[in-house]
Amino acid sequence: MAREVRRAFRYRFYPTDQQVAELSRTFGCVRLVYNRALEERTRAWHREQRHVSYAETSAMLTAWKRTVDLAFLGEVSSVPLQQALRHLQTAFTNYFAKRASYPRFKSGKKSRASAEYTRSAFRWRDGRLTLAKMAEPLDIVWSRPLPEGAVPSTVTVSRDGAGRWFVSLLCEDAIGRLAPVNRAVGVDAGISSLVTLSTGEKVSNPRHERRDRERLARAQKDLARKAKGSKNRAKARRRLARIHARITDRRRDFLHKLTSRLVRENQVVVIEDLNVAGMVRNHSLARAISDAAWRELRTMLEYKADWYGRELVVIDRWFPSSKMCSHCRTVTETMPLNVREWRCRCGVVHDRDVNAARNVMAAGLAVSACGADVGPERRKPGGQTAMKQETRPARVGIPRVQADGGGQRSLSRISASGGAGFTCAGSG
Ligand SMILES: [Zn+2]
Repeated sequence: MAREVRRAFRYRFYPTDQQVAELSRTFGCVRLVYNRALEERTRAWHREQRHVSYAETSAMLTAWKRTVDLAFLGEVSSVPLQQALRHLQTAFTNYFAKRASYPRFKSGKKSRASAEYTRSAFRWRDGRLTLAKMAEPLDIVWSRPLPEGAVPSTVTVSRDGAGRWFVSLLCEDAIGRLAPVNRAVGVDAGISSLVTLSTGEKVSNPRHERRDRERLARAQKDLARKAKGSKNRAKARRRLARIHARITDRRRDFLHKLTSRLVRENQVVVIEDLNVAGMVRNHSLARAISDAAWRELRTMLEYKADWYGRELVVIDRWFPSSKMCSHCRTVTETMPLNVREWRCRCGVVHDRDVNAARNVMAAGLAVSACGADVGPERRKPGGQTAMKQETRPARVGIPRVQADGGGQRSLSRISASGGAGFTCAGSG
């Protein structure tokens, strides 16, 4: 049973000088259009409390191209500029839906340079991709094959901080569903080990990462010492970006393997929702990297679960996963971060992370659509009656199962207080 999904395939490519010039110019225009439109929308809101629509910004763009100052916008392909306005529209939609913070200006140094081309702005023939305003096709390194007969619907070109060029092709792909399995797993995010599973398995960080991080820290210090605007500073920045890129690449590879495995082996995967705007900010490098990894892990689990017919349950972050004994459900008052192992009043000794992962899984199964049908061993009767109420209410993101036309199940979440399936009965 296969189903069609839209899937992005990303490759490196090596542009010619002409292509570098064209793309750099396009990136600059994309950024300018995005920032200008953001400025206009912000101003309209502050001065007149008026929402500016995508159509209005599109009309603005046409007007800008007619001015002397911005006539150069007409020299690059118009599609990436329109797409930039669409992305801004999405950013505002997310902001109004409280899913994201207010859209930010794109900075030349910090934002990843990219341009998106839709069907009318590229040519795809015999596996060769030619973008608008370009004479030659891109020299793409086909590190893995595109699905047979695939035709990209959208193409995104980008350059990372290390100066590497990438092209991402969005294609339709047929994905076979996996046969159902009778297993579930809880996943706990960590810093010392990347994740801990409710099975007791600890998945450590990718090899070399520790050394790479040390290099990263050194390169950062190095950069800070260089005079602003100097050639050496630019060099140091590139070196830093290269190390960063290497860490991210290895990390992504690793996460792909891990998430594929989790989805293949389990019918239900339960994770905690740590990826919330306004979460305590911690500026340590290790923390920043783990947070990024966690976000990426979650995204991968989301789409892979959907592809292969598995269920991903996301537990609210206030759920006391670390403080609760997974055996007797007593919640302890405090659980400092440095405590790696602890003994509950019931006598059971816990590894902090494994215990948390087990709690995550139990909470997830309680609200899962298939929770009743999947193992591991459910708690003995009476075992899950008492759970102390934490100071903050333990809310759980409840997944709702909806049947769509094809009888396929899709998940959406709502949030409710008091948990679901299992109750928070305050008992001493
Ligand atoms: Zn206990």
